[in-house]
Amino acid sequence: MSKQYYTTIGLEIHAELKTNSKMFCGCINNPDEEKPNVYICPVCMAHPGSLPVINKKAVESVIKVGLALDSNIADFTEFDRKNYFYPDIPKAYQISQYKFPIVSGGTLKGVDITRVHLEEDTATSKHDRGDYSLVDFNRAGVPLMELVTEPVIHSAKQAGDFGRELQVVLRYLGVSEANMEKGQMRVELNISISEDPNKFGTKVEVKNINSFKAMERAAEYETKRMMDLLESGKGSEIVQETRGWDENKQSTFSQRSKENANDYRYFPDPDLPKLFLSKIFDINKMKSELPELPESKRNRYRNDYGIKDEDIESYIVDQDLGVWFEKVANKLKDKDKVKTASNYITSDYLGLKKINMEVRLPSVENFTKLINMVTSDKISSRGAKDILAIIVVNDESPEKIAEEKGLIQNHDEGDLKEIVQKIIDANPAVVATYKGGKENALMSLVGQVMKESKGSANPSLVQKILKDLLK
Ligand code: ADP
Ligand code: ZN
Ligand code: MG
Repeated sequence: MSKQYYTTIGLEIHAELKTNSKMFCGCINNPDEEKPNVYICPVCMAHPGSLPVINKKAVESVIKVGLALDSNIADFTEFDRKNYFYPDIPKAYQISQYKFPIVSGGTLKGVDITRVHLEEDTATSKHDRGDYSLVDFNRAGVPLMELVTEPVIHSAKQAGDFGRELQVVLRYLGVSEANMEKGQMRVELNISISEDPNKFGTKVEVKNINSFKAMERAAEYETKRMMDLLESGKGSEIVQETRGWDENKQSTFSQRSKENANDYRYFPDPDLPKLFLSKIFDINKMKSELPELPESKRNRYRNDYGIKDEDIESYIVDQDLGVWFEKVANKLKDKDKVKTASNYITSDYLGLKKINMEVRLPSVENFTKLINMVTSDKISSRGAKDILAIIVVNDESPEKIAEEKGLIQNHDEGDLKEIVQKIIDANPAVVATYKGGKENALMSLVGQVMKESKGSANPSLVQKILKDLLK
């Protein structure tokens, strides 16, 4: 009999801030630069005698994050030196924050935040060259925020939801691109399991996670690994350690145990001024100027448009799509039309976009015309899909396309009767089957009428006429 185990997770999340220059020097902060070592200077290369200067925009960004999470914004804050020796850290210490972070407390998606502090990023190393390594200092000194959560997350899914929500918040605030694949957002997963819900088990920390999916998988993998050890009486083999996520094997492996954990000998950096934030920033004004955040946008969409939660999420994660959808909705006004529009956007438009890089949002004008045509039965839903597939590549008038392609539905009974009779005459066998009681046979006739009319017939009208004529 397997016992019940409780999973506990705490996350440490780093995000590169989107500033013009680096954290303590004037070098350009460009995460997309591919040529190594072009944005470097004596400060970020740690030449003797060079002095750091604090990037105000970076401090402001972390305050914004704190305000968005309902955290406490420190009045007093300072930077500390975190000492360790590694080729990616030219000063042999990283400027970070220890006792007095800019932000403490707060919550997001029901997860309590411990703190958010500001530090500098390291250089990037390449160890794939065999007997030597390469170091690129373009990233050295780029502003990096670190957010730490309390150990209050209890499932892989909850961890994933939190991470994704934080990513959206950072993007809405405009403080980080937060792209996981590009390493602009990096997640470390701390996880433990225990039989006693009131006691923590031994925690392990998992690194090298490059997507939220990977984070969820790593959490599931670790839960199972530790549970199996406990179940087979090998609980002592669960040790406090750092593990790495292997994306190819979809498993974790031990990197180093906590015994040789670093002692960073933190101390306040004497080269930098201490900051009294309320003297530098108007925090209340900053709070009032925050952009709309995902949660309030969700509520607004739910109330104003009555669309599905699933649709709403598409507009939350893709901000541009959300803005465009709002314009569409405001133009259409009618709630049913807005719902129809939302269906075409989330299933058809997004589907087309997935398979074709050239797909772009059509103009609000043309898209709303298309929705008006289909909701008034001027065109069939099949026709609407075909027209949509055209206007997302070539933004033309849907009316013009409908005319050209003969997609305007024919509601004229007289016209349709002629075509229907023709199909009946040409298909005596199908007609006999239908008359013999096989209702399904009718659909084959409807299909042929649709084809004969080049899609312009209204299918429900065709069905009605067929039934009448075959009585
Ligand atoms: P460390 O001293 O090892 O750095 P911290 O107490 O600073 O540990 O916590 C680091 C992260 O680990 C935080 O996100 C915290 O929520 C999480 N954490 C702490 N203890 C546990 C535990 N027993 N299980 C899971 N996560 C934990
Ligand atoms: Zn520099
Ligand atoms: Mg710690």
